[in-house]
Amino acid sequence: MEIHPKITPIYQTSVFKFDDLNELEQYFGEPGSRYMYSRNGNPNSDELAAAVNRLEGGAGAIATGSGMAAIFAALLAFCQAGDHVLCAADIYGGSSSLLNAELSRMGITVTYVPFEKLYDVGQYVQPTTRVMLAETLSNPLLRVADLRRLATECHEHKLKLVVDNTFASPILTQPIGLGADITLHSVTKYISGHSDVTAGVVVAADAEVAARLKQIGVVYGLTLSPMESWLAVRGLKTLRLRMREHSHNALAIAQFLQQHPAVRAVYYPGLADHLQHALAQEQGGGLFGGMMSIKLADDPEVVNRFMQRCQRWPFAPSLAGVDSSLSYPLGTSHRYLTPEQQEELGISVGVIRLSIGIEPVEELIADLKQALES
Ligand SMILES: *Cc1c(COP(=O)(O)O)cnc(C)c1O
Repeated sequence: MEIHPKITPIYQTSVFKFDDLNELEQYFGEPGSRYMYSRNGNPNSDELAAAVNRLEGGAGAIATGSGMAAIFAALLAFCQAGDHVLCAADIYGGSSSLLNAELSRMGITVTYVPFEKLYDVGQYVQPTTRVMLAETLSNPLLRVADLRRLATECHEHKLKLVVDNTFASPILTQPIGLGADITLHSVTKYISGHSDVTAGVVVAADAEVAARLKQIGVVYGLTLSPMESWLAVRGLKTLRLRMREHSHNALAIAQFLQQHPAVRAVYYPGLADHLQHALAQEQGGGLFGGMMSIKLADDPEVVNRFMQRCQRWPFAPSLAGVDSSLSYPLGTSHRYLTPEQQEELGISVGVIRLSIGIEPVEELIADLKQALES
């Protein structure tokens, strides 16, 4: 009996069989014709990588065990001991920990570039600078990087541009089409979308870089498991629908919160008074995503009361699930920055980050409304 499943089954196997030496030779002689060992390649992780590669318009991609593994692989694709990295100052906390605490030990140094200087990096570039790492939408204040301008600036200085596109997802923005050399995701977030997977993906604009990524993934063992890959592929199928709902709900919530007297500021690129609103509109194709931050009074008691009263917004320090949640940048992602750095980035006691889910928006607004009443 031949079996023809509609959906790729989970190949929960660490290794694949060969009948004889001819089949072994086929594996090495005709790349892509067979599988051998799951760390080197597995149908489920390859399916995920290929699907994201297609969405991002890349030349090749790898799936990784986490978003952190994706950032690590992306930086190693372009850097070795003695090299220097430029990193946008508004960056995921894990990325700065990787650069500051670990890559520094491997002889790779970093300089952080303030948001206002991203398109004028001359003063930061050294003869050994290879790469700029930046995010499409920054965490937690949702600043929007002009990727076309950034790519032009990087290439003028012979730097490669690596874009962490996690907050935007490929539905809003495809960095490679705007000039990025690599784009990557924490698949843990929107791509899988259900808060049940830890995974990453790295997409290269160039086939040679994709081959280098593959090598790094296999040799460092950054590989993703079959089960996680399968779950991420299932999530990915609804990404387009989810991003529309996330964006629709977030805009309504941002407009509501902007009017509320207890809310000092709303950081959402979909609002007309956001500093990069026009850019966000163009770069996101009219969608602004599901992430926003708000600022209440800079008083821990006010923050605590709000969190305690929220019914539909559990405090869970991740993001991008179909169910809404909130997080607290000062106490989680930005905890280990110096007070000066926290202030420079605008992360104060009253800043709360909201991850807007796809629940009925009236229910979410009603819950925020009662939580804000004092
Ligand atoms: C969560 C996150 C990461 C890290 O991803 P993990 O899957 O947790 O390793 C990297 N970048 C951004 C923007 C993130 O939100």
